[in-house]
Amino acid sequence: MKSSAPLILQVAVPAPLPRHFDYLPPEHADPATIAPGIRVRVPFGKRDAVGVLLATSAHSDIPAAKLRRASALLDETPLIPADLLALARWAAEYYHHPIGEVVSALLPPTMRAGKSGVAGPTGAWRLTAAGSAIDTQLLKRAPKQAALLRLLAQHAGDLDAAALDAALAHWPAPMRALLRRGWAEKVRYAPPPTPAALPVAAGLSLNAAQTAAVQKIQAALGSFQTFLLDGVTGSGKTEVYLGAMAESVRRGGQALLLVPEIGLTPQLLQRVRRRFPAAVVFHSALPAGERLAAWHAARSGRTPVVIGTRSAVFLPLKHPGLIIVDEEHDASFKQQDGFRYSARDLAVVRAARHHLPVVLGSATPSLESLHNCAQLRYAHLSLPERAGAAQHPALHLLDIRNRPMENGLSDLLLDAMRRHLQAEGQVLLFLNRRGFAPTVMCHVCGATLQCGRCDARLTLHANRRLQCHHCGAQRPLPERCEECGAGALRQYGYGTERLERALVRLFPDIGIARVDRDSIRRKGKLEALLEGMQHGEYPILVGTQMLAKGHDFPRVTLVGIVDADQGLFGVDFRASERMAQLIMQVAGRAGRAERRGEVLIQTHHPDHPLLTHLVREGYASFAQALLTERRAAGLPPYAAMALLRAEAVTRAAPMAFLDAARRKLAPACGRQVQLLGPAPAPMERRAGRYRAHLLLIAAQRALLQQALATALPALYELKLVRRVRWSVDVDPAETL
Ligand code: ADP
Ligand code: ZN
Repeated sequence: MKSSAPLILQVAVPAPLPRHFDYLPPEHADPATIAPGIRVRVPFGKRDAVGVLLATSAHSDIPAAKLRRASALLDETPLIPADLLALARWAAEYYHHPIGEVVSALLPPTMRAGKSGVAGPTGAWRLTAAGSAIDTQLLKRAPKQAALLRLLAQHAGDLDAAALDAALAHWPAPMRALLRRGWAEKVRYAPPPTPAALPVAAGLSLNAAQTAAVQKIQAALGSFQTFLLDGVTGSGKTEVYLGAMAESVRRGGQALLLVPEIGLTPQLLQRVRRRFPAAVVFHSALPAGERLAAWHAARSGRTPVVIGTRSAVFLPLKHPGLIIVDEEHDASFKQQDGFRYSARDLAVVRAARHHLPVVLGSATPSLESLHNCAQLRYAHLSLPERAGAAQHPALHLLDIRNRPMENGLSDLLLDAMRRHLQAEGQVLLFLNRRGFAPTVMCHVCGATLQCGRCDARLTLHANRRLQCHHCGAQRPLPERCEECGAGALRQYGYGTERLERALVRLFPDIGIARVDRDSIRRKGKLEALLEGMQHGEYPILVGTQMLAKGHDFPRVTLVGIVDADQGLFGVDFRASERMAQLIMQVAGRAGRAERRGEVLIQTHHPDHPLLTHLVREGYASFAQALLTERRAAGLPPYAAMALLRAEAVTRAAPMAFLDAARRKLAPACGRQVQLLGPAPAPMERRAGRYRAHLLLIAAQRALLQQALATALPALYELKLVRRVRWSVDVDPAETL
């Protein structure tokens, strides 16, 4: 043994094991560089891996002779700031997910691969005195140069490439022109400006409820407080976000706005950009380079505002000031595979750790958030009225039992459509099923066409191909029944494509737009459709829940919900909550301008208590009733839940693994944590794998957490673990 203990590096290595790994520093490593948050290249098994240094220690449980040496330190200064590293450790513990995988989720992919870390700014530009003197009105023939001049003039300091990218598309060519004319100059280094120095445009003047909400949020800046901004669709929540963000930015704090899906909210993006020209966007579908640029812009403090999806909750922020989660009820904030975190919940945890306010906004808040308000953990901000002149739409159930139907549309709905179209209103039909027909069945033997890899029927698409909506498998529609050989295959039920085709026949002279995952596959297609809708090109819109996502369609006066029964009998305990949220969100597209909207809901169950309650009493009352049910049933938010999931190519393996897991968990669970199962998942086979669940429920979260923390490490040791893919899902968004 040496006299001085060696320094041990505790490294988070992306591997499915619930611990860090110990290494010795590389030979000749500069001790000054060794700081938590730097990346480290290490030998791992037979390969090399890029990990992140969590901490150093004087001691390791591994005998000194067996300790391996890290091969290189990849950063000179920590890439992941300490606060974020602490959040990652918290999340790994709470979600019981391997720390190495959690930490790796904090890094843009290029950095995960070990590529260059914190690049210095490559350059920046500023106006010269001559440039400041130019009257941009005189540059009518060079509008891009004029726009760039104005941008540089608005801006107190220098602008670097990332800021320019964020503010102006295609800036390099006009920049070259400005440099040539001596109006701008390049500087080598731009010290990151504080967010307050960045341009912010003025917003609308707010109404009383909006003003009150903004004031409460502003008053909380600099301290931790969670707000639920509960505002009906069209009540101006977005303006409240923008107002609160502007104040945070004015005081030098960056604002992080989390949204469910950026691709579906071009309007929101435009509004944010108009208000904060230097805002950057961050989501996982961005090309790697842009993602990296956005990551740096957030980390360096160069951008005042980041708008991003789920994964943006882990962005490093130099001056964090405010976090906002728009449409907080949306299930897409929960990651559904691998590291199954909830970005909404982590946003609250992060705000608490940074001492920031966090705003959760929705017209249809989750039961969790409503419960937190009732417990006074969250402050409730309410926007009860629509902004401007708009009124709430009126909701009606259409009893379609025994009515004449035309391609899934009742005579009642068709009449209403004609009435609204004649009055130059726009009609939106919502059908949450894409494709042509959800079922193809043999009229002779009754066999349906099934996916070969899932327990699910294949959906027929208009291109005559069959598609599985669970695993993506595709094949052509066969000529004959595969069971009995009869040429009698028929399609049953309606998808958006079939509805669209029927509407073209019913309303031959009227423009119809369809919005679903298939119709907007091409980039820019959704923007083009939305644009056309704004200009009245499509009096009829047909679509899936994509139409429900926060769009502002000022001309829509009638919303038809083609099939409400679909959501009434879901297996999952959240099915009725989700159904109500969807109906209210779609309904909220109606009557957003002067004319009052009408919402007609087709159902075969007009007396169903869920539907009647929702329609008569509204979402808030409906949610209270659901909360009462959940309390009686001992379900979240009155209980904490975790789901142990396992899957394998054989039916027996996941059940056997979960049986063994149950035996390991039972002693730790005691009587306070209930174990249910294992049982096959409701859709047992998906993409060729059999799936099973073991459910854990406890009245107190701490007890559930303790049981998992005690027992889970032993599961990694089970022999069966090699035969299955398994994961823990804490606070599952669905139990399917
Ligand atoms: P939400 O996010 O709650 O659905 P939005 O912020 O999108 O609501 O606002 C709905 C519509 O009302 C938008 O067209 C918006 O421009 C308008 N609006 C919002 N606040 C105001 C206001 N204070 N004055 C006038 N119009 C407003
Ligand atoms: Zn399938």
